[in-house]
Amino acid sequence: MVPIAYFCSMNLVAPTHIANYIGGILQAPVSNKYLPNINPATGEVYSHTPDSDANDVDAAVAAAKVAFPAWSVTPTEERFRILNKIAQLIDDNLDALALAETNDNGKPLWLSKRVDIPRASSNFRFFATGIMHFSTDSHSMEDKAINYTLRQPVGIVGCISPWNLPLYLFTWKIAPALAAGNCVIAKPSEVTPMTAYLLSVICQEAGLPAGVLNIIHGTGPDCGSAIVAHPVIKAISFTGSTRAGRDIAAVAAPMFKKISLELGGKNPNIIFADCDWEKMMRTTIQSSFSNQGQICLCGSRILVEESIYEKFKAEFVARAAKLIPGDPLDDNSKQGAIVSQLHYDKILGCIELAKQEGGTILLGGKAMQGTGRCQNGLFIEPTVIEGLGANCRTNMEEIFGPVVTIQSFKTEDEALQLANTSDYGLAATIWTQDISRANRVAGKVQSGIIWVNCWLLRDLRTPFGGVKNSGVGREGGWEALRFFTEAKNVCIEL
Ligand code: NAD
Repeated sequence: MVPIAYFCSMNLVAPTHIANYIGGILQAPVSNKYLPNINPATGEVYSHTPDSDANDVDAAVAAAKVAFPAWSVTPTEERFRILNKIAQLIDDNLDALALAETNDNGKPLWLSKRVDIPRASSNFRFFATGIMHFSTDSHSMEDKAINYTLRQPVGIVGCISPWNLPLYLFTWKIAPALAAGNCVIAKPSEVTPMTAYLLSVICQEAGLPAGVLNIIHGTGPDCGSAIVAHPVIKAISFTGSTRAGRDIAAVAAPMFKKISLELGGKNPNIIFADCDWEKMMRTTIQSSFSNQGQICLCGSRILVEESIYEKFKAEFVARAAKLIPGDPLDDNSKQGAIVSQLHYDKILGCIELAKQEGGTILLGGKAMQGTGRCQNGLFIEPTVIEGLGANCRTNMEEIFGPVVTIQSFKTEDEALQLANTSDYGLAATIWTQDISRANRVAGKVQSGIIWVNCWLLRDLRTPFGGVKNSGVGREGGWEALRFFTEAKNVCIEL
């Protein structure tokens, strides 16, 4: 039996009915309507999520309006103290939060414990300290005048996040927004709401003043779109699909809102024959299938130099075959469940399309029946496909699952051409021991993030974001604090 209630140092409990967090109070949605919250590894409806709408958004904005005057001038040391306390409480409740994340998302529990939840506390700690060091420019006009730039909070801002790294990405937006002195209306994915709810409880415990952070649960069309369209909300930080990003931009841009859009990807892994073979193999397996391939930074198009193509194919398929999906609560499961029925159907549809397009399935390609409590779970075998051209839909459209294609190239120019064929431009990996080539290729791949001989090595100070259909703007470090502040220049004649 999977526990649905957790007891820990502060009695963090996963309820059967999740509440919105508005004005510091946990409350039911105005409509009193709920959506089922399903554990994808078991198929069980284990809680219910508020199906909030514009009325709940209005209430949250009203609470944020009341809170903003005081929070925006709260000394940075005090903001630091509260955000740091939130980080500490996340650490103290690691086990309960990790279990909630796994039950919502289907990812292995060891992954939630090792990556998702520790990163959520790092996000708070990083921006708590960051704001203490955030400085602004001054420009001297010799003996005529001095200019200095004030960086003031934007006001009330909206943060909307996806289901693949639920608390990790939710806090990646909320922490800099709060640190910079904004009040926040935040919406997690309706598919994975539990850890955002538990964060509400943590914020109450940490002493975050009422109305500074408001967390509303609901769908994109009913709740997310009401946040985006609300005239009082001045900036939208969004992570999710390119489709939703386009819809959000269409509403927010004519209202002259600041927008930061972190969208989809179709990331190339470019593998040259002179790479460090073992490291490349180990890492490419991770970059293909971590979190069931449901990380925006996963490499889904593997481009391999022709001279090592056959060797790569044989070894990659053999290693991927060992990643058998299983119960996410079992420490031995390398892969967990796919997040939802909708997404599971989409991935299987993409595999069918790859077959119709003439692709050869080298590994997987099918759904997998779970065992024991996971009999009704949503599992898909790690899947490797070859024999498809760069321009087919399988190689152009994001699948966002445990599915990769492999293609070969003869020259560096051909590798670049294949890499840049995509409409997306989020991340790329380059595997070579030739430092000149690594620099040359890194400069030419159309992508916001490049990893050379590594993957997912993250320094939170670095700019994070994509080009082309992968988004607009950058998160991380000062970029995030600049996004969540308005620059005001003050010129004083001497
Ligand atoms: P999604 O776009 O369906 O939903 C993301 C969030 O936006 C959810 O909270 C959803 O309720 C909300 N939403 C949906 N439509 C909306 C609308 N019109 N207005 C306002 N809110 C709306 O994405 P998803 O399926 O949850 O997540 C998977 C996608 O996220 C993939 O495309 C993946 O590449 C992308 N992603 C990108 C990054 C990145 O940093 N670039 C990181 C993680 C995931």
